[in-house]
Order: sequence, then structure tokens, then C-alpha cells
Amino acid sequence: MVEPASAPYMEAMSLTVAIIGRPNVGKSTLFNRLVGKKLALVDDTPGVTRDWRAAPARLAGIDLTVIDTAGLEEAFDDSLEARMRRQTERAIEEADVALMLIDARSGVTPLDHHFAQWLRKGKTPIILLANKCEGRAGAPGLYEAFELGLGEPVPISAEHGEGLAELVEALLPYVPPEETAEAEEGADPADGGETAPVIKSLQLAIVGRPNVGKSTLLNSLVGEDRVLTGPEAGMTRDAIAVEWTYKDKPIRLVDTAGMRRKSRVDEKLEKLAVADALRVIRMAHVVVLVVDAEAILDHQDLTIARMVLDEGRALVIAVNKWDIVTDRAGTLKQIEDKLQAQLAQVRGIPVVTLSALRRQRLDNLLDAVFDIYDVWNRRVSTSDLNRWLAGMTEAHPPPAVEGRRIKIRYATQVKARPPTFALWVSKPLDLPETYIRYLVNGIRESLNLPGVPIRMLTRKGK
Ligand code: GDP
Ligand code: GDP
Repeated sequence: MVEPASAPYMEAMSLTVAIIGRPNVGKSTLFNRLVGKKLALVDDTPGVTRDWRAAPARLAGIDLTVIDTAGLEEAFDDSLEARMRRQTERAIEEADVALMLIDARSGVTPLDHHFAQWLRKGKTPIILLANKCEGRAGAPGLYEAFELGLGEPVPISAEHGEGLAELVEALLPYVPPEETAEAEEGADPADGGETAPVIKSLQLAIVGRPNVGKSTLLNSLVGEDRVLTGPEAGMTRDAIAVEWTYKDKPIRLVDTAGMRRKSRVDEKLEKLAVADALRVIRMAHVVVLVVDAEAILDHQDLTIARMVLDEGRALVIAVNKWDIVTDRAGTLKQIEDKLQAQLAQVRGIPVVTLSALRRQRLDNLLDAVFDIYDVWNRRVSTSDLNRWLAGMTEAHPPPAVEGRRIKIRYATQVKARPPTFALWVSKPLDLPETYIRYLVNGIRESLNLPGVPIRMLTRKGK
């Protein structure tokens, strides 16, 4: 095992971002904007075969390595989809974060959809950028962009340099931390980014299908003492927040107008509801997914649950209307089976049965919320982590590729909220998904991280 002092991660502390998207969305323009035109031109030697061009940049104090994938599609001659996929595949593997651009003026295209669908399956976090949004021209495309399922789009104009502050805000959670708790608090997107005041409260969201009892739960939780606070910095315009304390711990319920808006059975509104859910999820630390005990964990419930986990939030499932359930044991068994089958990637998601209407077991819900919040914030020491890693690789060594065993040199936790780990691997691209899953499950069990999403990044380490 490599000693921490000689670990190669010291040189890798800048954030690597890959700019991706279909042709003509403005990738090169953004690259030049971030890197500075001169450097980009110098790097772009004609006739030289290259996978991509990369250059250092500094944006609002963040050190970046920017990878541009523009123009690479010309190197291949099969379908555009296949070419785009190939050109970006490696860039994304190499990147800490991918910036996916769309052209908000021309709207979301089938190619964007195709690309997004593929990206959603990957591990690299994606920030969706709606480009060409100067002077509001991009607004229709901006709204469409929610459909891509890559989170809330950040409107920018690469050409005019607009929206860069918002881009910085979106990047902050991925910046290798100085490892101070305060810096991390401030860097949390739920807290509104760098300039927002540090909010120590647990930010809670309540989501779920219509009629499961969200409003009832909200009212039961906050009772008469609720404080309604209006729109504020860092939050969406129509968002409100309710603040109170539970067992002396501050808790802040983020809510949106969208949640109270009753959705109709209209295709467009369905999509809107998803966009609303995403927005509220992104503001939260812990998300309570309310499900109806009479219609347990259907397709839509599971979609929302996956969204919460994909966004790296802590999830608690509240099984509401428990007062009218007759077969309680059977219902619980059903929930367990569904979680096992459908959300197997995160074992130990807390499930609380309750009645919002009768105000039963609300304390159990809040206890579960604070417990999972602690896990979500947990940090594992580097020595424990590497001791654990040594045990795991000894029990099951990584496979060999072309006769040479893949070596995992070192592991470290790069951030909490959610727990995110980096592995330095001799051949990161060849490390099978199944092996990464083996490690994630191992970390969860051995290092006590039940029920929260865990991110595992692989990086190249000699
Ligand atoms: P790429 O193929 O994705 O790298 O796209 P380019 O960077 O070459 O840009 C494609 C076209 O979009 C060029 O004509 C750019 O000038 C234009 N473009 C890029 N960014 C913006 C922007 O923010 N606003 C507008 N209106 N046009 C832009
Ligand atoms: P929302 O659309 O998710 O906000 O759901 P509501 O809070 O409006 O509740 C939908 C319906 O379920 C209402 O008729 C509530 O009275 C009912 N309801 C909510 N919680 C419970 C509960 O714990 N038990 C029972 N039996 N009904 C409930």
C-alpha cells in the first residue's frame, strides 16, 4: 500500500471538467471563455492527432483543468451518436465533473436526449448548461432542458460571459475541499453557494406523488409555530422555507410552490412535476419521500427515490396512512422486498411508518431524518479507509487485464454530503463496475454508512 505522503493525489487537486454536448452548442466558445483564447489556439495544433485538448484555467479562485471535446466527431466516420459517444467517453472518465451543453435557442434536440440518456448511466456528475441564454433569448429551451433528467439547467452565455457565477456555484460542491467544515457548509448548493450565509440547519424536503399526504405531513410537523420565510438569496423565486427546531436542532423545510400545485394528468405537467421535484431535492440535505401505505412504492415513487439518490441526497421513506393499514406485517414485507429489488444499490434506506393525519410516529420520522443526516455528513479517516481497502483487495483482488493485474493504490474520502471517495488505480478505465460495487457495498458495511448514496471516483495513479 502506498504511504499517504507519496500518494499521487497532491498533483491532482485541481478540478478537471470536461465540456461535452452535440456540435454547435458552443463547447469551443465556452472552452475559450474559460481558458482564454490565446492558450486554446496555441494548443490546437492542426494535423496533430489528439483525443481532446485540455488547458488550465482559473475561475473565481477555483483551479480547473478544462477538457474540450469539440470537433472530435470529425475523426470518425460512423453515426454521429457513436462518434459523440466515443469522443466524450474518455474525456468524462478523466473528468471530475462534466459540463453538458445544450443550445437553449434551438431547444432540446433528439441528439441531446440520446446523449443525456447515456450520460445519466455514468458515474461522473453532470452539470447541465443551457447556453446562448443571453438577453433571455434562451428561455424556452431552458425550460425544456429539465426533461433531460440531468438536474436543473444553469443558463449561461459562453459568448457574452454571462452566468459564470452560477457555473461557479454549481462547480463548488466538486472542488477538492480544503477540508474545513465551514468551507464545506458554504460550498453546499443547498445553502446557495459561496456567498450565501452559512446555514447550519438541516434542510429537509418532502416529496411524493399527489395525495400521499405531503401537505398533511407538513402541517402536522410544523404545527402552529411555523415561521414562513419569503424568497431569499440562493433559493428559487417561488420557494418558501419553514423553520423550526426539533430536540434543539434547527431544521428547515424547503418547499416549493410546485409541491402545493396539484398536478394534472397532462403529459407536460407530469414533466413539470419532475422538474419541481428535482429543484426541491437539490435544495435539501435530507429528502422525505412520502408514499401511500395502500399503494406501496409504485413506479413513480421509485423514480423519485432514484432521483434523490442520484442527486446525492439522503433519503427517508415515510409510509403514510399507516392508520388504515390492516395487514401491517405484509405491507412491511412488501416494502422491504421492493427496496431490495429496486434500490439495491443503497442498502439500509430508513423506512418509517406513520400517520400524518393522526400525528402518529412523527418523532420517529424526525429521528430517522437526523440519523441519516449524520451518516450523510460522516467522514472516514484515511487510515481506516486504507486498512479497509487492503482487506478488501486481499479478499478479492481486482481482475487482471491483458495479463496485468489492476492495482488499487490508495483511497481517500474527498468529501462528505454525500460520502465521496476516490480510488487511485493503475488502470481506472478497466476496473469493472462490479468491482466498484463490491467496494461500495464493503465501505457501506465495514465503515458504517448505511442508507446514503456513496460515490466512488476512480483516478489514475501510478
Ligand atoms: P461547438 O461545436 O459546440 O464547439 O460550438 P462552437 O463553440 O463552435 O459554437 C457554435 C456557434 O454558436 C458559433 O457560431 C458560436 O459563435 C455560437 N455561440 C456560442 N456560444 C454562444 C452564446 O452564448 N450565444 C450565442 N448567441 N451564440 C453562441
Ligand atoms: P398531498 O397531495 O400529498 O399533499 O396529500 P394531502 O396532504 O392533500 O392528503 C391527501 C389525502 O390523504 C387527504 O384526504 C388527507 O386527509 C389524507 N391523508 C393524509 N395523511 C393521512 C393519514 O395519515 N391517514 C389517512 N387515513 N389519511 C391521510
